[in-house]
Amino acid sequence: MSLTAAPRIEPKLQLCVLHVVRIYDLTPHMRRIVLGGRDLENFDVPTNALGPYIKLLIPPNGIEPEWPTLSDDGRLIWPALDRRPVMRTYSVRHFDKDACELHVDFVMHGDRGVASAWAARAKAGDPVGLWGPGCTTTQNIDWYLFAGDQTALPAIAFILENLPATARGEAYIEIPDESEKQIFGKPSGVDIKWLLGKKETPVLQDAVKAASWPAHSRVFVWAGAESATARSIRSHMKTKHGLDRDQMYILNYWRRGQAEGGFGYLD
Ligand SMILES: Cc1cc2nc3c(=O)[nH]c(=O)nc-3n(C[C@H](O)[C@H](O)[C@H](O)COP(=O)(O)OP(=O)(O)OC[C@H]3O[C@@H](n4cnc5c(N)ncnc54)[C@H](O)[C@@H]3O)c2cc1C
Repeated sequence: MSLTAAPRIEPKLQLCVLHVVRIYDLTPHMRRIVLGGRDLENFDVPTNALGPYIKLLIPPNGIEPEWPTLSDDGRLIWPALDRRPVMRTYSVRHFDKDACELHVDFVMHGDRGVASAWAARAKAGDPVGLWGPGCTTTQNIDWYLFAGDQTALPAIAFILENLPATARGEAYIEIPDESEKQIFGKPSGVDIKWLLGKKETPVLQDAVKAASWPAHSRVFVWAGAESATARSIRSHMKTKHGLDRDQMYILNYWRRGQAEGGFGYLD
């Protein structure tokens, strides 16, 4: 289960059905859904993972679907179209192995999205499938540059909470307004720059393009955003800074006007 050729680790993949344990809103547009289930005893998320992600298998129209199964070589075998769940990618915000609980934060972007609509209506006890996790990691980095819109906030928060205390760098996070800011732990050498973005303005890409880092640093750029922004940052890092694939992990987290599945993560 991989999204890119960047350096990564391959934890053991799980395919299981979890249940909603509790739900609460972190901010006006960010909802946390805590998922639980005994299968999480076998789930593992390395804490040095840079933005571990999972595939959620969302039941269509609230009915219990037929869940996919795993082939011997680890691929998903899907049931008929009208009975299968819809797959969407989300980040691990927090994993509590002792409690068998996985925290997933959803940007509430309205009813057009299967996952967003599911999160809006979910209630304790609802089933949801999980396939994952997938992870990337890196080592010997002097300077981290993180960039993301609100969909990448859960991943960036996970990473910052788990980076070594000596890590240095900057994190640019675009949110629609002040009420979407969150507080989380981070190394003292990493500065968070909150950017207030108006829809369809290039505030994130402009800030990242103006960013610099100490000369001769081994830098790693991590970004997740709407695909036009991600593409622009990727291209800037290649052409302006000469970074290659191993020095960056920049994903199209979503694409305006298209549902997940209709575009590649690296297009
Ligand atoms: C590795 C990875 C990790 C991710 N982690 C998270 C996470 O932790 N939390 C999170 O909220 N998202 C996360 N995302 C983004 C999420 O997968 C997409 O936003 C996804 O499209 C949501 O699915 P949906 O069913 O709600 O919408 P879809 O059915 O995929 O899309 C329906 C419509 O909604 C639009 N849309 C999708 N997302 C947004 C948005 N954020 N704002 C406005 N319009 C949107 C699409 O353009 C489309 O027109 C992650 C993506 C990746 C690749």
